Amino acid sequence: MLEDVNEKCAVVGIYGHEEASKLAYFSLHALQHRGQEAAGISSSDGQKLHTIKKRGLVMRVFDEDKLRTLKGSSAIGHTRYSTAGDDSILDAQPVFARYDLGEMAIVHNGNFTNAEKVRKKLIAKGAIFQTFMDTENLIHLIAKSEKDKLLERIIDAVGKIEGAFSLVFLSRTKMFAMRDKYGFRPLSLGKLPNGGYIVASETCAFDLVGADFIRDVEPGELLIFEEGKEIQSIKVFEPQPRHCIFEYVYFARPDSIVFGQSVYQARKNMGQELARIQPVEADLVIPVPDGGVPAAIGYSQESGIPYEMGIMRNHYIGRTFIEPTQEMRDLKVKMKLSPMTGIIKGKRVIVVDDSIVRGTTSKRIVRMLKEAGAKEVHMRVSSPPTTGPCYYGVDTPDKDKLIAANMTLDEICHFIEADSLAYLDEESLLRSVNSKDDTYCTACFTGKYLD
Ligand code: AMP
Repeated sequence: MLEDVNEKCAVVGIYGHEEASKLAYFSLHALQHRGQEAAGISSSDGQKLHTIKKRGLVMRVFDEDKLRTLKGSSAIGHTRYSTAGDDSILDAQPVFARYDLGEMAIVHNGNFTNAEKVRKKLIAKGAIFQTFMDTENLIHLIAKSEKDKLLERIIDAVGKIEGAFSLVFLSRTKMFAMRDKYGFRPLSLGKLPNGGYIVASETCAFDLVGADFIRDVEPGELLIFEEGKEIQSIKVFEPQPRHCIFEYVYFARPDSIVFGQSVYQARKNMGQELARIQPVEADLVIPVPDGGVPAAIGYSQESGIPYEMGIMRNHYIGRTFIEPTQEMRDLKVKMKLSPMTGIIKGKRVIVVDDSIVRGTTSKRIVRMLKEAGAKEVHMRVSSPPTTGPCYYGVDTPDKDKLIAANMTLDEICHFIEADSLAYLDEESLLRSVNSKDDTYCTACFTGKYLD
């Protein structure tokens, strides 16, 4: 199978601003939570594209001198979150290529579900691939397309791919932004304060660079940015919205507006719903930082049980998920989270987290709280049991590693050594995000994948 190295990521595009690469750089800082493995920016000075990409955090990849070399008034950027084990720099983005129409760079958030099939076909026709990224398929499809213009070639190429994609393309003179017809991954459009436009995975990037939110790029829509012209919009596909509900549960930053709603408010609603349907007598509500914070606040406000910071998080340790082996993951959880003994000792504690995936984090946390003297530890999860992998751009492990796909509620409770365990249900989750119709993808919780 193709390696899924192109998953939960962030994309940004800046068009029509003198300091495009700097704004892309700042935006990537705001989007760092979407990927910490690698970062990159391509800019265009109208004649030539310039690219820098490297493994590591945004602040380590770029400095003042490097940014100065990324000349021009348009730039696209990417932060990458890869699955375990792959550390090739070739798999960082933007993906850059020279082809018969000139130069282009692409950044991509999402997952092409037919990537393997498309790649095999391309290879059979003589294409040579340099990376494991599904994004490289797009480069080949564009380069091989028989259409005359890049715009037509992009439309031709995206018609051959399936799955989840929020994409930004950069040519010497234009920028294109596109979302798949399901709108799985977010992509918003904003106006920069001193002229020019920004597109970004999350609106928290707009806040940082002082941009005004205009609207989301619609599912199936392609935006074209060209000098001296209004933004042009083409409906490439009929929209069939299936927004990723996990963006609200865990992935997006709470200060972002995603799919038209505040992530913070959605998470708080989840906590309130959880308190209503899964109450328990206790002295304190504490979050697993940072993901569980808004839901724990909601739980506390709804239940009237005081909220405390019972666990400290060391912010200088990366996400525990990234580590390939179980042993490393265990160690990293330990390094990352420590108990506030004075708060917890002798107390009945409700601990709120946004999700349980493998169960490693919860088990470690319950044990840690008990060791710190908690009298009872009640685990409350502000999403339903994670029972299925994601094929649309979130890095969830295979089914055999998902604890809720392999154990009953009681077994999980026993495994994590909690006094009680309860999850949010699907209905309450949908209510928390004000879902009135079937516009969300809940496959990781419900197994309802695309047909
Ligand atoms: P686990 O130890 O595998 O059960 O991981 C659960 C923890 O990882 C929770 O605290 C979540 O906030 C967090 N989490 C859930 N999904 C992901 C993901 N796709 N990537 C990184 N962290 C995640």
